[in-house]
Amino acid sequence: MAIDFRLTASQRELQLRSRKFAKEVLSPAIEAETLPTPEERFAATKPAYEAMIAAGFLRKCIPRSAGGENDGLADTAIMVEELYAVNASVTLTLIGTVLGLLPLLVGGTEDQRSRLLPPFLKLAGAPLAGFCATEPGGSANAASPPPGEGVRTVAKLSRDRWIIQGRKSWVSSATGWDRKGADILSGLCRTDPDAPPERGISVMLVERPASGLVFERAIDAVGHRAHLLPQFSLEGVSVPRDNVLGNLGGGLTLTAACFMGPAALVGIFAVGLMRAAFEFALDFARNERRGGIHPIIEHQAVGYALADAKTAIEATRYLCWRACRAVDLQSPAAEELAIEAKVFGSETAVRVLTELMRVVGIESYDHALPLGRLLQDALALPLFGGGNIGVRRRRLHAILQRPEYDPLAACSEVEV
Ligand SMILES: Cc1cc2nc3c(=O)[nH]c(=O)nc-3n(C[C@H](O)[C@H](O)[C@H](O)COP(=O)(O)OP(=O)(O)OC[C@H]3O[C@@H](n4cnc5c(N)ncnc54)[C@H](O)[C@@H]3O)c2cc1C
Repeated sequence: MAIDFRLTASQRELQLRSRKFAKEVLSPAIEAETLPTPEERFAATKPAYEAMIAAGFLRKCIPRSAGGENDGLADTAIMVEELYAVNASVTLTLIGTVLGLLPLLVGGTEDQRSRLLPPFLKLAGAPLAGFCATEPGGSANAASPPPGEGVRTVAKLSRDRWIIQGRKSWVSSATGWDRKGADILSGLCRTDPDAPPERGISVMLVERPASGLVFERAIDAVGHRAHLLPQFSLEGVSVPRDNVLGNLGGGLTLTAACFMGPAALVGIFAVGLMRAAFEFALDFARNERRGGIHPIIEHQAVGYALADAKTAIEATRYLCWRACRAVDLQSPAAEELAIEAKVFGSETAVRVLTELMRVVGIESYDHALPLGRLLQDALALPLFGGGNIGVRRRRLHAILQRPEYDPLAACSEVEV
């Protein structure tokens, strides 16, 4: 029977290696989150990010077929849970880079991949990539037909070059370590103003240095305090004609394909944050009497709350692992499971984090303890990678509306 959530020997090795790296490198790097400005905080994470690259964690996210060492999304999930549980900011810098590379990995030509991937396959440096979808003024309706604005950033062909004009915001690491841009950006642009969105939007590759990329501000986000979330404009950025990734006009389809795996990973982000909070709260409950006679874990209300939290963590982890495996196998239910992992995991994390704060009580409200930071990080999960209200629920809704939808597909697949 294939239903077996035990790890392979190499997955266990990856889990332990990631856990050790997180403890030794990412845990001290959390200090960066206390610096005053978003850019100072991000800059302070560079040594930890470089160490992450040197330790092979980016290579571990790039498929073997593209020269990396990834053996599937389930492995990525095992690794990411360990890293995110300790430092969400730096881990998101890594996964944001993977997201930025996905249009190249999924839709790029052999030529584009062999030209652009090598810096990301090295065990040195601090390479960054970003996927630029979000725009000031909203991005939930990127696929809207007129009179909706949809994607506002425009790429116009002039002789043999695309000239890009527009603004983007909230894009992980997009302006790079020096405001001049990440090494590569995959940007959603309108390439045919007259075509319907499903044929008029493309993913355009912007390579550093990109003259015309203008930094506007670094958003001072509620969580992921040392992760760079810039707002910037593209003012006449010029790229070669063959910098379209995937099919010209097929940008929305490519974007949907790129976001499926990361949706399942958002669920694993949730597991990482919940697990970190649970371990803290369990230890607190076992050791603190809060002026009473017994450690507070002996009070039934506390014990039940911890039990409910642990149940939610286990349920979320196995849904995410199942979703990752379904994505790896390109199973019929992969899209549904990935979105369910994202929606369920992200909302469960916010709930469980606040419940665990109640277990610990007032001390949890002090930034000297990690729970406030973990909740601040968790608040992003229902909002990013497509907000749960605006996009994910709608996408799930669309799946359920398909005439061929089989509600039992997720539990009827036969191992071949
Ligand atoms: C830490 C972090 C990292 C991020 N990294 C990136 C990145 O790398 N790249 C990137 O492009 N973006 C990134 N983002 C931005 C984020 O992923 C998107 O901006 C966000 O998912 C867009 O969602 P939204 O639904 O709130 O959009 P908006 O368009 O702002 O919609 C706002 C609200 O309007 C309502 N709404 C809008 N349309 C509908 C509809 N059709 N049906 C129902 N309700 C609707 C919903 O209530 C929705 O929440 C990041 C954000 C964060 C916090």
